[in-house]
Amino acid sequence: MNLAYQYKLLPTYEQRCRMDRWLDMLRCQYNYLLADHFDWWEMNRCPVNACPLVVSIAEPREKPEYYGQKRSLVPLKQERSWYADIHADVLQDMVKRVDLAFARFVKGDKNGKRSGKPRFKGKNRYRTFAYQRVKPDCIQENKVTLPKLGEIKFIQHRPVPFGFIIKRALVSKKADGWYVTLTLEDKSVPDLPIVEIQPTEANSIGVDAGLEYFIACSDGSTKQSPKFYRQAEEKLARLQAKREARAKGSKARRKMNERIAKIHQRIARQRRQWHFEVAGELLDKADVVFVEDLKVSNMARRNKPKQGEDGTFLPNGQSAKSGLNKSFADAGIAGFLNEILPYKAAKAGKRVVKVNPAGTSQHCAICLNRVPKELSDRWHNCPHCGASMPRDVNSGVLIKKVGLGVCLTIKRESGSTRRRSPRRTA
Ligand SMILES: [Zn+2]
Repeated sequence: MNLAYQYKLLPTYEQRCRMDRWLDMLRCQYNYLLADHFDWWEMNRCPVNACPLVVSIAEPREKPEYYGQKRSLVPLKQERSWYADIHADVLQDMVKRVDLAFARFVKGDKNGKRSGKPRFKGKNRYRTFAYQRVKPDCIQENKVTLPKLGEIKFIQHRPVPFGFIIKRALVSKKADGWYVTLTLEDKSVPDLPIVEIQPTEANSIGVDAGLEYFIACSDGSTKQSPKFYRQAEEKLARLQAKREARAKGSKARRKMNERIAKIHQRIARQRRQWHFEVAGELLDKADVVFVEDLKVSNMARRNKPKQGEDGTFLPNGQSAKSGLNKSFADAGIAGFLNEILPYKAAKAGKRVVKVNPAGTSQHCAICLNRVPKELSDRWHNCPHCGASMPRDVNSGVLIKKVGLGVCLTIKRESGSTRRRSPRRTA
């Protein structure tokens, strides 16, 4: 089993300066190697309809790849002697990062999901470096020994669990100081087992990620999202106005930036802690939690423009959707459903089941008849059976029913009707 524990570092002034210098050097080299990748693609391709068939071209130079770029570190350290200050492992890890960023852009990750074009990193955008190997005994009392940097004091707020070996160390610079994340491994402890609890009416709960509510459950309970960002907004606005009054590049402006960054950091931490608490409460209530299978990329996608017969653009629902996306982003619902809840469930030996949410907002949870609603209809009133409840609670109940095997009839706009069975994933 692998664990990652994060501790706060208390480096001396010299150590802080040295780590800052390392980050800066690594960033420059990162940008240089990234540019090398881009250059190669620019020079060695042309559109197929403009491809000359008879003109000979210059011998293409070797494509930059991981091992070649890694080899370039040797002459780098000779030509620019200050790079020799950085530990070799840390330098190699930087090359790996370039490779990964570019591979995700060109080929996609193991699920084939591609990310955007890698960006050149500006100052303060490159904030971590990693040792792929550290000594298992690098922690002695309140000090951690990192190669080349030496002993650094840290706050050991919790001990490394017995039997776990320290494998890797990741040093990151955050708004309020330096942190080290240690990867711990114990081969004798198996990974968290995937439990197969059979969901029943009694031991399960359906959860709808709402708009008015953060979540609405099938038992009728709801959770309002505490608007951490909204609370701090006023203070942030005041500080940002103050920052704008300071000259660009001045020390005063940098100080203001640091204060603003700390507030953002606090908001993120408050939100995360609250998510963990909500997840705990949910798992106290039930053994199996049904959640909707949220596709974040779908939510972020823009609606197709609608055009009338005379060529004018008609409302396509994008503005309503944009507002929706914004409040989703503020609440961090995707992170909650996809990461924190499954993590807590696995630790508690419980189960989170993803359910296809299609139709769960358009049907009645009691009689299962179709009750069409617009996005603005916040209340569910069923003309068939007289059920009346908040829209999100209705969805929560339906998600539970779909999870337990009920099929909803999805009526397409074209008029064709088809049955869809709920897709289950563990
Ligand atoms: Zn009904």
